[in-house]
Amino acid sequence: METTKLLIVGAGPGGYVAAIRAGQLGVPTVLVEAADVGGTCLNIGCIPSKALIHAADEFHKLAQYAAGSPLGISAQSPAINLATTVGWKDDIVKKLTGGVAALLKKNGVQLVQGQAHIVDGKTVDVALAGGKTQRIVCEHLLLATGSEPVALPFMPFGGPVISSTEALSPSKLPGRLAVVGAGYIGLELGMAYRKLGVEVDIIEAQDRILPAYDAALSRPVLASLKRLGVGLYLSTAVQGMSDDGKALRVRDKQDKVTDLPADQVLVAVGRRPRTVGYGLESLMLDMNGSALRIDDQCATSMRNVWAIGDLTGEPMLAHRAMAQGEMVAEIIAGHRRRYAPAAVPAVCFTDPEIATAGLAPQEAQAAGLDCLDAMFPFAANGRAMTLESADGFVRVVARRDNHLIVGWQAVGRGVSELAAAFSQSLEMGATLEDVAGTIHAHPSLGEAVQEAALRALGHALHV
Ligand code: FAD
Ligand code: NAD
Repeated sequence: METTKLLIVGAGPGGYVAAIRAGQLGVPTVLVEAADVGGTCLNIGCIPSKALIHAADEFHKLAQYAAGSPLGISAQSPAINLATTVGWKDDIVKKLTGGVAALLKKNGVQLVQGQAHIVDGKTVDVALAGGKTQRIVCEHLLLATGSEPVALPFMPFGGPVISSTEALSPSKLPGRLAVVGAGYIGLELGMAYRKLGVEVDIIEAQDRILPAYDAALSRPVLASLKRLGVGLYLSTAVQGMSDDGKALRVRDKQDKVTDLPADQVLVAVGRRPRTVGYGLESLMLDMNGSALRIDDQCATSMRNVWAIGDLTGEPMLAHRAMAQGEMVAEIIAGHRRRYAPAAVPAVCFTDPEIATAGLAPQEAQAAGLDCLDAMFPFAANGRAMTLESADGFVRVVARRDNHLIVGWQAVGRGVSELAAAFSQSLEMGATLEDVAGTIHAHPSLGEAVQEAALRALGHALHV
């Protein structure tokens, strides 16, 4: 039996960041992980998906050049060696997870590899490799066990039915891929597979893609799906595999049943907090739907039991888990902290990308705020043109009375990098005048941020 001040279960972005910060603050910390450090994000989520998306973009670019290019670039029959691509992606994952392991060590965190089983709010048994069990007793228990993909009840994962995990490590590309769900994963990976030459159909239950975003933001992505030749089936219900197992059977709003030929089916209909299978139920913690209920310090309903990240529900984003983890470590070290970000930015890595922080116009209205909004199109931005990417815009939302900015949205190639400016302006309480009066480098996509603020003030310069 071992005792420690802080015991963290799960070494994803939430758990490992909490452990590093606790280590920095001198809190004796044990971190238990059943798989590889880095969790979903580093091993089977954010990083591998962005690697695959980049490889697919590069390949697609060459394939387009092979058909002629206004840039005067030509290419001949580009080919891709998938094993090398996957190996390159795995190397990035290895470098990052190795880096995390080194940081944990440097900060004095004790990493225990094994499946944790919660005995009570202060006691955890870890099943170690080789069949032994190690009991760890702690003052504070931090739960950071993440989430897992939701399966369709009539079509469990296995064989041709895959989750994002399998889609990120393909040994061979399918000829045809059916993707269920036009959310983050379905669109990011569906587009990447299409760019790698796979015939892709996307089936979405709702009447639009990316239902979490407003129509103006998702419209350029919709146009891009059409350009790429992705089959899109909206307001469509999945019935299961066809009798011969070679197609996905779907039913549209008019009850018309169609078999979509598919070698593989990627199910991306959301993720669920990981709350069962390791004794968590025995703590009888308050729940918030399928997630653990937490307060603004990430405290659960049991004293000195904390929870962060995907386990605590939406938004299931790595940077939220990290911010919560850092905060909980500081609270346990005696700091006064509260989780109250002005905004949690979100980026959808489709082509074009979508980046948001804070409130969209409709959300501001629903919150009872009297706001004005303005957008600046990339069609009027020189840098966007030189990047062959004049689709999309930056939009700002601000209070009408004092011009306090309450939200930013953008769609366009490369707008993920604008998310930092968006979050900073919200966190610092910037007004339209603050952003409009800041000199932005030329030529850059960032100028569209300044111009959106200028436009909201009624005097945009370039539109
Ligand atoms: P996780 O990263 O899920 O880590 C939980 C860890 O706990 C796991 O390592 C697991 O093995 C371990 N664990 C669970 N139970 C036990 C137990 N009983 N004992 C021991 N260990 C246990 N987010 C973004 O912000 N940006 C992106 O671009 C992005 N892309 C994504 C792409 C994909 C394909 C997916 C699937 C997700 C993506 N996400 C992205 C979401 C992001 O991965 C998660 O929000 C993030 O990983 C959550 O971190 P976490 O620490 O809460 O949990
Ligand atoms: P999601 O919630 O983004 O999208 C799920 C989609 O599936 C929705 O559009 C929903 O309407 C649809 N759907 C649900 N049931 C369906 C059914 N039976 N048939 C057809 N469509 C159905 O979920 P996801 O794409 O699985 O991603 C899970 C989570 O992972 C995200 O919510 C996000 O938190 C995280 N993630 C983030 C990023 C990023 O930050 N770039 C990337 C990937 C994943």
